Amino acid sequence: MKVLVVNAGSSSLKYQLFDMENGSVLAKGLCERIGIDGVITHKRPGKENYKSSAELGDHKAAITLVLNLLCDPELGVISSISEIGAVGHRVAHGGERLRASSVIGDAEIEYLESIVEINPLHGPPAISGIKACKSVMPNVKHVGVFDTSYYSTVEEKAYIYPIPYELYEKYKIRRYGFHGTSHRFVCAKAMEMLGNKDAKVITCHLGNGSSITASVGGKAVDTSMGFTPQEGVPMGTRSGSVDPTVVTYIMKKEGITADEAEKLLNSKSGLLGVSGVSSDCRDVLIAQGEGNKRAALAMDILVHYIKKIIGSYIAEMNGVDALVFTAGIGENDGIVRDLICKDMSYLGIEIDNDINLKLPRGTQADITKAGAKVRTLVIPTDEEYMIALDTFNLVK
Ligand code: AMP
Repeated sequence: MKVLVVNAGSSSLKYQLFDMENGSVLAKGLCERIGIDGVITHKRPGKENYKSSAELGDHKAAITLVLNLLCDPELGVISSISEIGAVGHRVAHGGERLRASSVIGDAEIEYLESIVEINPLHGPPAISGIKACKSVMPNVKHVGVFDTSYYSTVEEKAYIYPIPYELYEKYKIRRYGFHGTSHRFVCAKAMEMLGNKDAKVITCHLGNGSSITASVGGKAVDTSMGFTPQEGVPMGTRSGSVDPTVVTYIMKKEGITADEAEKLLNSKSGLLGVSGVSSDCRDVLIAQGEGNKRAALAMDILVHYIKKIIGSYIAEMNGVDALVFTAGIGENDGIVRDLICKDMSYLGIEIDNDINLKLPRGTQADITKAGAKVRTLVIPTDEEYMIALDTFNLVK
């Protein structure tokens, strides 16, 4: 069966077509600037990329163009849409009800619409993407794979905030967790590498957005992101956790609204906010190398918070068998991995820098120092494959 994976953003639509016989990617690409002046990039392994401007008024126009390209005699990889057996949709938020990957019918869309208020950024484009795909591919099943659903095993004590309980009942304010599909994928790979189905694993998804998850036997027990992807460790432009009073104090002192305060913490903080240089870890590291003190401080803060979360999860699980790094920074940046793992020998974490610092991009590797109690692994994430696999398993 061939499965199309779709990830719809507010002005973008990413796609990958998988052949589930062998898990290979037949084609993938990205529609950008939807609703503005559309651009599509279409890639097929081993062949030249195709990039073109296009009329992309909305998600429906984008998916129609994608399907035309996939079936194109020259640029395509299938002869007709009917070869696509199912469509898997990445959905950031499944709320409290969509706790596992599910076939999306009218009831599911209605529920997703009802929780847009707690997912205002990612909800509307995801729903619009699903509706567009359903309208042009009405004869196949559409499956939603939710970033939040991996956290359905987290206990109440870890997801209820210590605020008046009625606010949870009234507004569903609780910790949901995000990046779940990525954590689920790399955690499963780590357990496979360890040959241990009950392993205690801490997965560090460190990219532009970052989160850390603790899992036992492939079931999440805690995660650093909460009600929104704003909680947890500092990120490219997000602050991560700060004393909540800091927010109300800034609002009073700067005379800004709640929305403006949210924007400040979401898009002007983190690595960018502290360094004043960039949200991109590579730029901040270069600036640090050139002697920029605030860039150095931004990196110190990032590493400090990540270490604190790792330590707390080891305490929560009464141990850890594997520490895993993934996503843009986690997969590619040996220096950051080294900084995080430094001075954790008491906890059994020690890495071999002969391997760690020389690791080529996108490589799966065991970077553990010989004799260390805890295995430290680098595992490239593949959320799209996980979405394709869930979709295939649900519809086959
Ligand atoms: P992601 O959100 O997973 O795409 O990750 C983006 C982050 O990964 C940015 O902060 C990049 O600086 C970082 N990143 C990507 N490639 C590298 C690399 N080769 N070395 C260091 N950091 C990288």
